[in-house]
Amino acid sequence: MPASPEDFSGRLRRLIAGGGAIPLAQYMALANAHYYATRDPLGAAGDFTTAPEISQMFGELIGLWAADLALRAGAEDIAYVELGPGRGTLAADALRAMVKAGLAPPVHLVETSPVLREAQLQRLPGATHHDDVGTLPTDRPLIIIANEFFDALPIRQLLRSDGGWRERMVDWDGSRLLPSLGEQRFDAVIPEALRGGEVVETSPASVAVLRELAARVVAQGGALLAIDYGYEGPLAGDTLQALHRHRFADPFDAPGEQDLTAHVDFTALADAARAEGAIARKVVTQGALLEALGIAARAAALARAAPGRQSEIETAWRRLCAPDEMGTLFKALAVTAPGWPTPGGFA
Ligand code: SAH
Repeated sequence: MPASPEDFSGRLRRLIAGGGAIPLAQYMALANAHYYATRDPLGAAGDFTTAPEISQMFGELIGLWAADLALRAGAEDIAYVELGPGRGTLAADALRAMVKAGLAPPVHLVETSPVLREAQLQRLPGATHHDDVGTLPTDRPLIIIANEFFDALPIRQLLRSDGGWRERMVDWDGSRLLPSLGEQRFDAVIPEALRGGEVVETSPASVAVLRELAARVVAQGGALLAIDYGYEGPLAGDTLQALHRHRFADPFDAPGEQDLTAHVDFTALADAARAEGAIARKVVTQGALLEALGIAARAAALARAAPGRQSEIETAWRRLCAPDEMGTLFKALAVTAPGWPTPGGFA
């Protein structure tokens, strides 16, 4: 049984009271593990909504993207892999589209939450679950999809202070958790371009996952598509945020009871892929990708089939693609094995 909220914050409190402040990355890892293990956070009744939950068009277009790429690569025996699949909605929509294109790949889901694993199995009864990427199949090309996965992985923050660049820690003052600064100076690791900023973020966990997957793709063939809100670094700034019931909250309040995320540095992910010999394409916005994959035609076809739903379909299309909605803030990175064709929507 996962710990109850009281158990979890009590455990965190005792950890810090006994051993001193912990790095932000450790706090984020512990808090998110508890958060996801104890609930389904998605949808109107939860804390946040994601693109596949807005419309089936999102997963369907990604499924077509995957099928088109695999077929052009001459690789029909692929595995469909998804990282942090939530309720399994994206995978279910993508696989339906892939089947129409003639592919019915085995499904491998990397998911740590028992609650979400259960929801995923309802929609994808034959799926195989993995605690981490290390156990994914080694005998075939992998098409790996990650939507709003990397934003949930722990980040490290270094802050400029009178005493040099120091690590953001999380401390306990006897009544509440609060941010503090570590003792050690990190001046030497701050890139020249970011020295004028106040906060420098990195996500060593994200880079490590991406390197491992890029190495797999190079060795076995395949591709990875990561979609998330983020930026093309290097860029200074504090992007840590907490969401509770669709509103921003204090990240140090109610640990394990709200979703902690940070914006994804797509340059760092692309560099990690290239370091393993994979090809990382130029990052595109979610809006540009979905338009290139034919969201207009898909929306028109859905509206023809269900005329009463036309305005709902158009609203969803707008939410996914408009620059003032998810269209520009969300970005997509495609990584492929050398020798694989250019994926749809990427130059
Ligand atoms: N991709 C889904 C859900 C996004 S929420 C969607 O677009 O709707 C983040 C997902 O990542 C959840 O499924 C969560 O349980 C999972 N997750 C978070 N941290 C993880 C980790 N360290 N390892 C594996 N899965 C993780």
